[in-house]
Amino acid sequence: MSERRPFDVQALRAEFPALAQEVYRKPLVYLDTAATTQKPQRVLDAYLGFLSHDNANVHRGVHALASRSTKAYEQARSTVARALGAPEARDVIFVRGTTEAVNLVAETWGRENVGPGDEILVTALEHHSNFVPWQRLAAARGARFVVVPVETDGSVSVERFTQHLTARTRLAAFAHVSNALGTVLPVAELTRAAQAVGARVFVDGAQAMSHLEPNVLALGCDFYAFSGHKVFAPPGIGALWARRELLEAMPPWQSGGEMVATVTEELSTWGPPPTRFEAGTPNFAGAVALGAALEWRFELDFVALQRHEAALLAAATARVSEIPGARILGEAPGKVSVLSFVIDGLHASDLGMILDRDGVAIRVGTHCTQPLLARFGLTATARASFALYNTLDDVERFGDALNRAVRMLRTGDP
Ligand code: PLP
Repeated sequence: MSERRPFDVQALRAEFPALAQEVYRKPLVYLDTAATTQKPQRVLDAYLGFLSHDNANVHRGVHALASRSTKAYEQARSTVARALGAPEARDVIFVRGTTEAVNLVAETWGRENVGPGDEILVTALEHHSNFVPWQRLAAARGARFVVVPVETDGSVSVERFTQHLTARTRLAAFAHVSNALGTVLPVAELTRAAQAVGARVFVDGAQAMSHLEPNVLALGCDFYAFSGHKVFAPPGIGALWARRELLEAMPPWQSGGEMVATVTEELSTWGPPPTRFEAGTPNFAGAVALGAALEWRFELDFVALQRHEAALLAAATARVSEIPGARILGEAPGKVSVLSFVIDGLHASDLGMILDRDGVAIRVGTHCTQPLLARFGLTATARASFALYNTLDDVERFGDALNRAVRMLRTGDP
């Protein structure tokens, strides 16, 4: 077991080389973690170290590098299982990221288990990645696509969700944490309600991994997916966990090398999971770096981390609220440190561009959640997302830059 380190934001921050730079001659304030996290030196070293010394294709060679590489890849699978509280590493499939995991399940489990007249349930706050593939599946299979509305504060009510479940609900898919609002969904309760009508549950954990410590057994879900780049690892690698009996019954998605048992001119048969779902050369270097990122994360004191992020969110919320005409989207109790807002009469992209010149990186736009924004009568918001490596000083820099931007846009004065 890794030792938990005392939480020290300055020491943590110093581990992230990207945060030590200036943009436009101003120290960078990085508030776009919900889009992607920055990477600690230990992960960068593990990535480069692996490629420099151990690089060889996995599961294919008998030489020393091939066996080191295969061992490191499978070790990373065990680390992912541990990070998710999953008992068995073989129930973890490496994928490109959350988007690929959703598509994999939609195209395999979904095609086999969703038929005409069945229903697929999602919530209105889903990222397009956990919305569009299910919508397409429903259209292809003649199923009904049901969207559960969110409450005014951006929360998802178990009661309202339950009202949308029927005996025909085959699958409920929802986020653990909303990328646009920061809402933490009551995953265990929603899962219990969906499973009570016989539905399977897919949880999109993309935003959860850097703020929470999910445990798939405690949550009770059937599928859980996340992206490495949102948990301090490089892009292009992520993981899907699923219950063994589901994986065993699922047909392959992509086919090709390594996922087969036998191939003849007449017929091919499939290997067992997880290899059945990892056709071709996987991103083994990415997987090793993901393992390193999760090992690094095991050392974090999540209680202190959550307290720190809550303090950043409270301070940033106060700074935004004091601006006349500001409106914050998403005020669900217990939300993570994501702050979405609009300011009367001002366009989010203008704010984003002016803040950028002050060295402050925020995200502006739809956040890939158009149905959610439509629910609030909006087409764009500005979003500042805070992570363990942000400081109260970052919040002050953000608040000052935002005030300057608003003044500039309202008065025309530079
Ligand atoms: N789900 C949520 C909640 C997200 O925030 C994101 C990315 O922003 C995704 C899914 C898609 O993740 P990826 O683009 O890494 O596949």
